[in-house]
Amino acid sequence: MNSKELTRETNILYTGSESKLPIERPETPPIYHSTANIISDMDDYDFASTGGKYYYCRTANPNRDGVAEAVSYLENGEQSLVCSSGMAAISTTILSLVKSGDHIVASRSIYGETIELFENILKKFGVEVTYSDFTNIDSIRASLKSNTKMVYTEIIANPLIEVVDIEVLSEAAHSVGALVVVDSTFTTPFAIRPLEHGADIVIHSLTKYFGGHSDITAGSITASNELMKKIYSDYLLFGGCLDPNSSWLMLRSIRTMEMRVTKQFENARKIAEALQADPHVRYVNYPTLSNHPQHELAARIMPNGCGAMLSFRVEDDRDKVNTFMHKLKLVKYLGTLGGYRTSIAHPATAFRNEFTPQQLKDMGMEEGLIRISTGAEAIEDLIADFKQALTVFENV
Ligand SMILES: *Cc1c(COP(=O)(O)O)cnc(C)c1O
Repeated sequence: MNSKELTRETNILYTGSESKLPIERPETPPIYHSTANIISDMDDYDFASTGGKYYYCRTANPNRDGVAEAVSYLENGEQSLVCSSGMAAISTTILSLVKSGDHIVASRSIYGETIELFENILKKFGVEVTYSDFTNIDSIRASLKSNTKMVYTEIIANPLIEVVDIEVLSEAAHSVGALVVVDSTFTTPFAIRPLEHGADIVIHSLTKYFGGHSDITAGSITASNELMKKIYSDYLLFGGCLDPNSSWLMLRSIRTMEMRVTKQFENARKIAEALQADPHVRYVNYPTLSNHPQHELAARIMPNGCGAMLSFRVEDDRDKVNTFMHKLKLVKYLGTLGGYRTSIAHPATAFRNEFTPQQLKDMGMEEGLIRISTGAEAIEDLIADFKQALTVFENV
């Protein structure tokens, strides 16, 4: 639209904003960048603001809703919210569901920043957190109190790849009326759908396997309509919603997620076996290995594979581990995980600022522990890359 009666200055604000031809049925959804949709009158506003249609991007956006629908479908949950990062999903969920005087029981081996959220933010508002060994149900039961409102866990713990029995845990939590919140980033809905095993809320850092290409930062929260009602009103106030462009990319990534992660799980299982057979490797932590302490539990709750994260221990020699990292040709050292290419990380370095060297050792994070996020490469190329680099540890 432009008009001879208006100035150039005004016309340039309106020209070109409406399509000349009808745009029917695009094969891929368009990106709705618009932060607002035009409201025709006050009745229309009432209709829009009570959920009748889109009118403001933070409240709802078609691209973000598309991702939410896909996540709900994969997790078999009623409703999802899509956030600007995994941490936005975690902080929104927790802050909307607990209040001063409440108590949370959390696994001691959860994502580091989640612990910082508990320590730096929740403590400030008078919420108490007890950390417990979640591989031991007696330890969880002993931590529950009458004011425990939430039990918070991951299913596969980083970096030792311990498995949590969320069915037993959910039963214990529900017996004191606490909600079970699971960060299932490491497992993905292709290994396990926590809501089907007793969890009330499932969270993902979509940055990892859902995005899958190390190019989108996002998170999700999935739960029943009833719980989501509470979380949504605070989500709007915290403002951690994902932008339309990233939402569009995320939905595109989700289309091929099953193909990617199925191969990644399979590769992880094969790398675990190859590393376990390598003379330079002391041990491998991966649940499909028969010597993993929770092998049977993992096989029961994750029959289709146990994710693509594993760790292994070599000689505790910092120089040699550095040389090993340089010697790897395909595999890179990254501060993330879940991408389509294999990467490694060094837990003792990642946690150096949070724990003393002795604490790190006590927690099993020795200098020789290396974590792998397995990608979708041909397995023979991956195994060959690890094997040639492992020769650095020749005389162990
Ligand atoms: C990465 C990660 C997060 C945080 O996600 P961001 O998208 O980086 O905010 C939370 N939990 C787990 C298990 C993660 O791996």
